[in-house]
Amino acid sequence: MQCIFCHKDSSTSKSVEHIIPESLGNKEHILPKGYVCDACNHYFSVKIESQLLSQPYFVSMRRRNDIRTKKGRYVAEEMFFPGAHKMSETRFDLDENVLYITDQDVIQSIVEGKCHSALSLYLEEPEFPNKVMSRFLAKCAYESIFLLGGDRDYQLWLKGRENNDCTFQYFEELRQFARYGVGEWSYSQRRIYSEGTFFSYKGGEPYEVLHEQKFFYRGIEWIDEYRFKAELYYVLVVCGIEYVICVTDPDISGYHQWLKEHPGHSPIEDENETRLEIGMYDVNPLLIKFDDKAETNGKAPLGKACNT
Ligand SMILES: [Zn+2]
Repeated sequence: MQCIFCHKDSSTSKSVEHIIPESLGNKEHILPKGYVCDACNHYFSVKIESQLLSQPYFVSMRRRNDIRTKKGRYVAEEMFFPGAHKMSETRFDLDENVLYITDQDVIQSIVEGKCHSALSLYLEEPEFPNKVMSRFLAKCAYESIFLLGGDRDYQLWLKGRENNDCTFQYFEELRQFARYGVGEWSYSQRRIYSEGTFFSYKGGEPYEVLHEQKFFYRGIEWIDEYRFKAELYYVLVVCGIEYVICVTDPDISGYHQWLKEHPGHSPIEDENETRLEIGMYDVNPLLIKFDDKAETNGKAPLGKACNT
């Protein structure tokens, strides 16, 4: 086998590649062993995904949506404790019903009854534009092409490489950008629904959407009866924010044009789905309630914690 990114032998590679990181709640979109070699898998994990997920927006968004780490741990976040006039790293553990606080002064204030609430920063969107995000989108798009094509396309790709006749040449720039950061790639980012939105498919049980993705074509020009030229776009929506890149061109202006032609719409929309918006809070105070008997050794007891 050969790695789709670095083209080196990947027959002995052990890792499976999660297209969207497990730490964003992905358990489904996974490439089989060997598609991405261990070295590239490690590179993306350290240089792209960890860097992206440690950005303040993602920390805050994962904490407020209870999206846990790969190992099932809650995300730690810097919070402000008004009663103690201090910030502290804070981590909830709703299984143990405990709020872990790192700062000793904050713990002391809570114990002394001076501090009753904690505030977390509410960041609506990630910093934009952002090269780590654009490389992340390029990686997800490139891998999704292989996921969709399955083994048949992977074999075609391998053959094409042997014969120096790669039908995947259109994605060559995308691969170089994702894996090696060569060049710049613009993308579109906008919120299309709030985090507290529920959907219902054909009137069935309501559900929340953590992430969804799709490819779509724009500007189709037929060459003959079977072949056409078009711009191919990759759309990823995570917690209501839509991110779009053009797979075959680093320029995103064609998508901006699509938005002008389809005001108020997104390519990800499904006409069978109805949407129910639940109010979104701008500030996120958390009330700390006491249980007299609980210990306060490095952690604050939580009778009940609630967002108000
Ligand atoms: Zn590789």
